[in-house]
Amino acid sequence: MMRAMKILFMKSAKVPKDYPFPYKPEIAVVGRSNAGKSSFINAFTGSKIAKVSATPGKTRLLQFFDLNDKIYMVDMPGYGFAKGNRDEVESWKLMIETYLEERETLKGVLLIMDIRREWSDEEEMLKQWFEHHDKKWAVVLNKADKLSRSAMLQKQKSLQKELGPNVPVFAVSSMKKQGVEEAKNLLLIEWPR
Ligand code: GDP
Repeated sequence: MMRAMKILFMKSAKVPKDYPFPYKPEIAVVGRSNAGKSSFINAFTGSKIAKVSATPGKTRLLQFFDLNDKIYMVDMPGYGFAKGNRDEVESWKLMIETYLEERETLKGVLLIMDIRREWSDEEEMLKQWFEHHDKKWAVVLNKADKLSRSAMLQKQKSLQKELGPNVPVFAVSSMKKQGVEEAKNLLLIEWPR
């Protein structure tokens, strides 16, 4: 089991003037609602700081955390909850794209997906934004416990092939805390460097 990190909630923010002062290198986590973003953050940090299954869409702000006094981590609001509500979708897009554009200390973004889902328009849009803003990024295929080992490996391999060698693809179970540690080196050492 992974050792718990020291994690402190700093603040929520929507617009750049409210972001914490950019003292430290920063990583961000984003994903479709219900993909297991909160579960992943909790498994990764060994804490219970991210709320699991809060009402979808309830947390619509960027949430800034301090990890080990060394880096900042941003929990971005999930997407996909507001299909059909154009204003909410547009406000989510504006918040995320502004953040990607303005946050110079942002070192990399982790995209959390449910391993059983297909790559969708939203993931494609995020991919375009990451590339446009020249951000490093990686994919976490979560809920790997829902698939057989061979199906899991196949899914991981095919997405890895699709995205190419510069975008690491991890298969994890946040629930069983499996595979989570694999992302540690990338997020805590390589990206913040
Ligand atoms: P979020 O909306 O992306 O933050 O997702 P949550 O972390 O709230 O998780 C959504 C649901 O998926 C909850 O019922 C979790 O218990 C469940 N879940 C999260 N991670 C896993 C996992 O690795 N395996 C399984 N089987 N369920 C998971």
